[in-house]
Amino acid sequence: MAWKYDKNGKAKRSVRCGFCGEIGHNRASCPKYKEKMAKALEYHEQMAQDETNQQHTRDYHAEQARMCARIIARDSKTKKGKERRCGFCGEYGHTRRTCQKRKDMVKDETDKAIRFRKHLRDQFIQRGIGPGALVEVDASNAVAWGREDEFRSVLAIVTDVSLRAVNSRHSPNPNQYWFDQTPICLEVSYVKDVPKRWSEDTRNDWIRISHDMCNFDSLDLEGVQFSSQYGNWLTKVISPVEVSEDILPAQDIDYDHVSDFILDAIVDPK
Ligand SMILES: [Zn+2]
Ligand SMILES: [Zn+2]
Repeated sequence: MAWKYDKNGKAKRSVRCGFCGEIGHNRASCPKYKEKMAKALEYHEQMAQDETNQQHTRDYHAEQARMCARIIARDSKTKKGKERRCGFCGEYGHTRRTCQKRKDMVKDETDKAIRFRKHLRDQFIQRGIGPGALVEVDASNAVAWGREDEFRSVLAIVTDVSLRAVNSRHSPNPNQYWFDQTPICLEVSYVKDVPKRWSEDTRNDWIRISHDMCNFDSLDLEGVQFSSQYGNWLTKVISPVEVSEDILPAQDIDYDHVSDFILDAIVDPK
């Protein structure tokens, strides 16, 4: 908030732009900011289409372009007709709701998430990972500082499985150069206490699964670097259990249900 003085010298409160510093408008309606975003959109769009760039670079720029488009469109809702810009891809003449690129992305990501979830269900069945299984967990990422080595291999019993938030970002991608975020989908109960850095609960934990379970569609992953897991993760199955297809509820592979999730989590992130 800034102060403005009228002709009688009376002070009036007014907004100050966080981008250019002028009084009387805010960042969302700043013409200079919008001009900058329009230039950035053009640049990222060009980089995303440039076939001499590596795929992961192009993916990055495509995402940045969508972000610019979102910012530009935020303030142009009142404009009509051909001036209207799509808040998803930044093109003129259609809206985010009718954008074909956005529809294609929802379909593609939903299909991938469903295929990946089914792949993981089959991995759980094959490896006998379900409630009751005895597993080994690397819990070194969550324990009190300095005690990591004691907890690189901890026994735990699986208590629950949930694939409800799994999506393609949790699987390695041949266009990516590194990968470490496998999905957090196993709830375990540790056999001995694991004193955590950020939680009082020393027995229960939600952990990630191992890298080798995540290559769905048998992708060719030559060149992808597997960095160490961020968070606690499954390292070994000691005593498997019988696992049925029910481990993946029908709802978690229902197209409409999954696409709602994909819209919120990936296509239109907040
Ligand atoms: Zn401004
Ligand atoms: Zn569009």
